[in-house]
Amino acid sequence: MNQIISTDRYHKMQYRRCGNSGLKLPLISLGLWHNFGHVNVFENSKNLIYTAFNNGITHFDLANNYGPPPGSAEEVFGKILHENFKGYRDEMIISSKAGYTMWDGPYGDWGSKKYLVSSLDQSLKRMKLDYVDIFYHHRPDPETPLEETMGALSLLVQQGKALYVGISNYQAEEAEKAIRILKDNGTPCLIHQPKYSMFERWVENGLLDVLSQNGVGCIPFSPLAQGLLTDKYLHGIPSDSRVATSGIFLKESNITPDKLAVISRLNDLAQSRGQKLAHMALSWILKDNRITTVLIGASKPEQITDSIKALDNIVFSEAELKLIDEILA
Ligand code: NDP
Repeated sequence: MNQIISTDRYHKMQYRRCGNSGLKLPLISLGLWHNFGHVNVFENSKNLIYTAFNNGITHFDLANNYGPPPGSAEEVFGKILHENFKGYRDEMIISSKAGYTMWDGPYGDWGSKKYLVSSLDQSLKRMKLDYVDIFYHHRPDPETPLEETMGALSLLVQQGKALYVGISNYQAEEAEKAIRILKDNGTPCLIHQPKYSMFERWVENGLLDVLSQNGVGCIPFSPLAQGLLTDKYLHGIPSDSRVATSGIFLKESNITPDKLAVISRLNDLAQSRGQKLAHMALSWILKDNRITTVLIGASKPEQITDSIKALDNIVFSEAELKLIDEILA
């Protein structure tokens, strides 16, 4: 693959303002949960970053625990940045998170100030960065006072280690509380990162309203349901698919005959719109202006260029929306 930075990279992407902030994000962002660990082929990881950046994808999403092993995705990304993208830091929005188990003992998990502050310091070292653009609390902590967790995020902004902060996996009510605390602290919540796809629609019952009422952006993760919302599993399990190669978070048992029947009907509908199912699954999320960007993953560079084709048609007729609801019901 040609590893040069394309001069027309900004002609290929559209950008949306993130909530009421000054920040615009590309309609498609790239996540590094899979395919960037030490277990993966470094050259492929590098090609994924080149392909994304050369197509106007300026936003790269990480977390302390991405790998495997945990931490290695940040190390690999840091190496790619420093060896190949020197001089482009100001064209990138880089995020990280803490909230899931990262190291042994009581300070390497959940939502204490101790954990969040130490974890971001470690992430910055692994990526060889002075700051991240967005730092998230990765999941709510039922035991730590929300004021402490949000206070830690605010502190990290005040220290210049993060430009913006966000929350992930928070339900509507707890998100509203967190957003209020961050606002009172003078460090507004930029964005929420929930799981959202045609197969996981909980955000429609309150969360999206809370976010739009408060001027907070939304970046849904796993918009392709980890690959289920594509045509790849329609005729068996390809040997290079996530189910075959990883099988931890997406298992063969998730691909039931009922699910396949739904995927097949969605695939037919996508074709009638002149799209592939992957395109329709992404455009179906982006049709809603409360969504800032969709956060995809990719195991191959071609999947990134393919998924970007979703942007060619993000408008749905009432009849199409009704049919999608019927198929998913
Ligand atoms: P997706 O739902 O986009 O699934 C990505 C997978 O789908 C790819 O790895 C690939 O799988 C397949 N795929 C992607 N594009 C295509 C295409 N055009 N055609 C066919 N197959 C395709 O997202 P992920 O589940 O990977 O999550 C995306 C990001 O979201 C993560 O990297 C992470 O940044 C974030 N995330 C956040 C979480 C949180 O708690 N905040 C939790 C989980 C994810 P294959 O390997 O089969 O080729």
